[in-house]
Amino acid sequence: MQNKRFISADRIVVKIGTSTLIRQNSKINLKVIKKLAHVLSSLKKDGKDVVLVSSGAIGVGMGVLGIDTRPIKISKQQAVAAVGQAELMQIYNEAFHEYGMSVGQMLITRDIIDYPESHTNVMNSFQELLSMENTIPIVNENDTVTVSELDHHTKFGDNDQLSAIVTNLVDADLLIMLSDIDGFYSANPLKVPDAKLIDQITKINPDIIAAAGGHGTKFGTGGMTTKLKAAELILKHNQQMVLTNGKNPEVIFNILSGEPVGTLFTKNPQ
Ligand code: ADP
Repeated sequence: MQNKRFISADRIVVKIGTSTLIRQNSKINLKVIKKLAHVLSSLKKDGKDVVLVSSGAIGVGMGVLGIDTRPIKISKQQAVAAVGQAELMQIYNEAFHEYGMSVGQMLITRDIIDYPESHTNVMNSFQELLSMENTIPIVNENDTVTVSELDHHTKFGDNDQLSAIVTNLVDADLLIMLSDIDGFYSANPLKVPDAKLIDQITKINPDIIAAAGGHGTKFGTGGMTTKLKAAELILKHNQQMVLTNGKNPEVIFNILSGEPVGTLFTKNPQ
């Protein structure tokens, strides 16, 4: 039995990936959303500050529109995301209402980093939402307006990095990244079945980067590469990140009680 971890977490950001939210049959995993709503609502009621960063808009949109493969054309992706985002928020709304919570939708772009005014505005919104007793902010990239052009980059690129940026912005103690895999392995377990789960990572070195393979499912986008970039940002700001399987979001309780769940990214090995 491994030692307990010391996890400081008065302010927590939880990121849930598309591969956890959407089943292989393209249907949304309502069981996961309901459990997530239960866990985050109880943390909030216990006095913790909680922010949810949710992927899944395109995946959910594909299900609503009956599209089987992720569109390649950007405008099509944006349209599918617009449909999916509305559906997703409706589902979150209903799930959180069960526990007396409201949700606040925050659709943001990279402008919050590049433009001081946008930064101030988003910080003010976060502060107000976090100070509300029964409200959880749910963040996603504003897919319909983001562009990635030479003179104007408004895209974060992916929600893994977005969640790390949000963790930095709101000065959270911990980022919990819920994916479809138990943690970071010595190699992609889909390709190397005897790959070993790594308990803790203190530095993103070339060996770790080399161990990150592609994404696992047709819905997943970033794979481990973007999760490592996120972890790099977290370590740079002396924060902590736990990467684990989100199939049962109650795992968040285990993480907060110090159980050695998933992979802990920290500068202070425990
Ligand atoms: P999400 O939708 O949660 O962001 P992704 O599908 O983008 O998830 O990424 C998770 C996938 O990354 C896993 O299912 C796994 O197949 C793949 N992967 C690649 N390299 C590794 C590794 N070293 N350890 C764990 N998973 C890995």
